[in-house]
Amino acid sequence: MTTDRKIRIAIDGPGGAGKSSVAKEIAKLRGLRYVDTGALYRSVGLYVADHGIGENDEEGIVSCLPHIRIELVNDGGTQRIIMNGEDVGDRIRTPQASVYSSAVSKIPAVRDALFSIQRDLAGQGGVVMDGRDIGTVIIPDAEVKIFLTASPEERARRRYKELREKGVGQSYEDVLRDIIARDENDSTRETAPLRPADDAITFVNDGYDLEETVRYVMGLIDGVITRRGIE
Ligand code: C5P
Repeated sequence: MTTDRKIRIAIDGPGGAGKSSVAKEIAKLRGLRYVDTGALYRSVGLYVADHGIGENDEEGIVSCLPHIRIELVNDGGTQRIIMNGEDVGDRIRTPQASVYSSAVSKIPAVRDALFSIQRDLAGQGGVVMDGRDIGTVIIPDAEVKIFLTASPEERARRRYKELREKGVGQSYEDVLRDIIARDENDSTRETAPLRPADDAITFVNDGYDLEETVRYVMGLIDGVITRRGIE
């Protein structure tokens, strides 16, 4: 039996489905560690953009990898991300960092470089990890796997609202275009494409707000825990 303290919950899905908000809330409610793996790809993307390397310059991107040191620090239930000594938590959330993160995540050498940090965190157990390939590649034997998704329009509306609140002036049409482009990149890449694991539970949360989504996902998790006899 796995105790709740050691449980590993994988939440995958496309951008804007609410994975990180849901994962954070579930981690808080269950006393688990929250790990946002998208922040790793965003940090690599940020480093590449900061160094003036093009998003399609694979050789240039790969040559950056030995110079990037990333730490994920658990700070009272939230995650801080430190790249080469700098807290990049805010800088990785810009639209440019989003585009770059998606571009770098297609490159197998980038995924390999970020693999062990994710596996080490998963290995400690007691985690809720969100990303694109957590249930398929990083923790294929996770106790609970959820695939959280929503239509591109619904996700674009949420992202647009979030950006507006942060004062980022991107139009709804541009946000939707970025979301569709990222979906395409994430689901058609050869290495670790975005797809639900065979044993994941898929939840399409169009029309659900965060609170309703959290309640629903908590119910799914409880159901799996009871069915599988996890304490
Ligand atoms: O989740 P978030 O939107 O912050 O992720 C940023 C980008 O990082 C995604 O568009 C995706 O391309 C990539 N990513 C990934 N695998 C993960 C997490 C994120 O490829 N596990």
